Amino acid sequence: MRRKLIAGNWKMNGSLAANAVLLDGIKSELPQASCDVAICAPAPYLAQCKSVLTGTPVSWGAQDVSEHESGAYTGEVAAAMLTDFGCTYVIVGHSERRSYHGETSERVAAKAARAIKSGLVPIVCVGESLEEREAGKTDSVVGAQLDAVLSVLGADGCGKMVIAYEPVWAIGTGKTATPQMAQDVHAVLRARVAALNPAAAETVQILYGGSMKPDNARELLAMQDIDGGLIGGAALKAADFLAIIRSA
Ligand code: PGA
Repeated sequence: MRRKLIAGNWKMNGSLAANAVLLDGIKSELPQASCDVAICAPAPYLAQCKSVLTGTPVSWGAQDVSEHESGAYTGEVAAAMLTDFGCTYVIVGHSERRSYHGETSERVAAKAARAIKSGLVPIVCVGESLEEREAGKTDSVVGAQLDAVLSVLGADGCGKMVIAYEPVWAIGTGKTATPQMAQDVHAVLRARVAALNPAAAETVQILYGGSMKPDNARELLAMQDIDGGLIGGAALKAADFLAIIRSA
């Protein structure tokens, strides 16, 4: 049995004051969670997450990390800095990084490897565009994105990540993949991991992301290979995020 993980991706939202309200709301109403819960905050707010969430069942993480260890990389944040601030997770390869910052799958793989080396769990995002889906290329696109990471992590490392399937056309659009559409892709992704390490494929958590909301979470999370959610918009309201946690 895989534990479910509900992870919030705050993206570039928040302020000290707004985060305090949101985190407090989550903390005070958190159900006896039978699932893992995490929040991926903008880097400047990781100290706030650490101070508010230490000692609670909620983990926290970042939204990106440098593939380099340290040095002359202005503007980058090193994996060791994230662990300094108590991060458990870091998102890598989010479609917004891939499309607005030109991140290739090779770079995403290097970031995932760097994260694991520093003791972080990378949440590796993959997903197809609408055009790719309509052209029947979903499996090959997400398969290639995942294979790039698997080939760098190898059989030993591939069980140390979380995978997030986020169809680009569903992110922030209100359009969700149907549970069956998501399940089909999750099964493809798990099979890719199984080809490298069958035991890791049984335990690796594969999250769905893309307009997951309180009213669709339950049926998505009921699917066999959907092990949680990466939640954008709905993670910015405590009531919505908590409702998703309750349905996991
Ligand atoms: P969304 O974002 O839930 O707002 O669609 C998900 C994500 O981009 O991680």
